[in-house]
Amino acid sequence: MMDEVNKLSNVLDTLQAVLPTEHFLPLHEPLFRGNENKYVKECIDTGWVSSVGKFVDRFEEDLAAYTGVKRAVAVANGTSALHICLILAGVKPEDEVLVPALTFIATANAVVYCQAVPHFVDSCYETLGLDPDKLRDYLREIAEIKNGACYNRKTGRRISAVVPMHTFGHPVDMDKVNALAEEYHLVVVEDCAESIGSFYKGKHTGNFGLVSAMSFNGNKTITTGGGGAVLTNDDDMGKLAKHLTTQAKIPHKWEFRHDMVGYNYRMPNINAALGCAQLEELPEFLAKKRALAEKYRKVFEGNESVDFFIEPDFAKSNYWFNALLLKPELAHMRDRLLALLNDSNIMSRPIWNLMYTLEMYKDCPRMECSTAEDVGRRLVNIPSSVVLGE
Ligand SMILES: *Cc1c(COP(=O)(O)O)cnc(C)c1O
Repeated sequence: MMDEVNKLSNVLDTLQAVLPTEHFLPLHEPLFRGNENKYVKECIDTGWVSSVGKFVDRFEEDLAAYTGVKRAVAVANGTSALHICLILAGVKPEDEVLVPALTFIATANAVVYCQAVPHFVDSCYETLGLDPDKLRDYLREIAEIKNGACYNRKTGRRISAVVPMHTFGHPVDMDKVNALAEEYHLVVVEDCAESIGSFYKGKHTGNFGLVSAMSFNGNKTITTGGGGAVLTNDDDMGKLAKHLTTQAKIPHKWEFRHDMVGYNYRMPNINAALGCAQLEELPEFLAKKRALAEKYRKVFEGNESVDFFIEPDFAKSNYWFNALLLKPELAHMRDRLLALLNDSNIMSRPIWNLMYTLEMYKDCPRMECSTAEDVGRRLVNIPSSVVLGE
């Protein structure tokens, strides 16, 4: 026991050697050092604070240019982006949608907004995201193809889509996911809420599915206060995303004509102003975040208590949240480590609870998720703000 406590103190000492110690360190604080003030002031001065304006248009264009997609549509938050993505993917009531068991709640909730059923999938140690090899074996066992669609033989429901989520910015192996999706007639929706600035085999995440969702919440790599985006390389999907998120109103000078049940999911101009300024700074943010991750990697090399999680070979990650994995024999000490770090001004958190441990998702279909469970027991996030990489 004493030995184990010493091993935890060693983690604290190692962190204190590379982090400032005089004040509390949040997990991820936003940084506004560029044109944020200027652009937001311009909105206030001109009165263009709400749901249309030049910053919305510019943010969408800049975001598409940066990520390399054909079209980006700015929306209210990442959760509404996911909702719209699933609608565009053709997810219908009573469908099942494959989502990781280990994700933020929004991924599963968005499936239920479509009156569909989340079907939980295991993670892999290489990416912390969905395990495409294990998913293939599982689908061989439970799925069948009828009339060009995939059905769950056990529940009889159609499985219409799969949602890989790039955990803490580390890209999922999208070639494998796409091969699998083709074999089983699944639509791919990427949850890129955590992965702006993350590249898979040289291409920005969000280019690999039919549609993708991003988040610009306050704790993400760049923020618009609250905000999100739908990304797509399909022109029709892009147009439909804009239409659906603007109450499905047919543009007209004075008439109120709506041709579908739409949503008010638009991003206000004042938030987009913040986003334009943040996007200008993104390359610098990423360099600093990667420098911080490199510092952590070095100091934890050969550590006997924890492993620092490193991006997969095929990826260049934004290292949104840095993560330590306790050695398996120390898994039972996780909460003591969390208490020790948080009591020492170093904010740290466990990863999310597995979705099927939550009351509303306990009866959903799922595969055996031993890796997600193991990661869930051993992972601890540590401070990851841009400023710490300076
Ligand atoms: C942040 C996040 C979301 C939701 O984004 P909001 O902007 O908070 O609605 C969705 N999925 C994942 C994985 C996230 O981390």
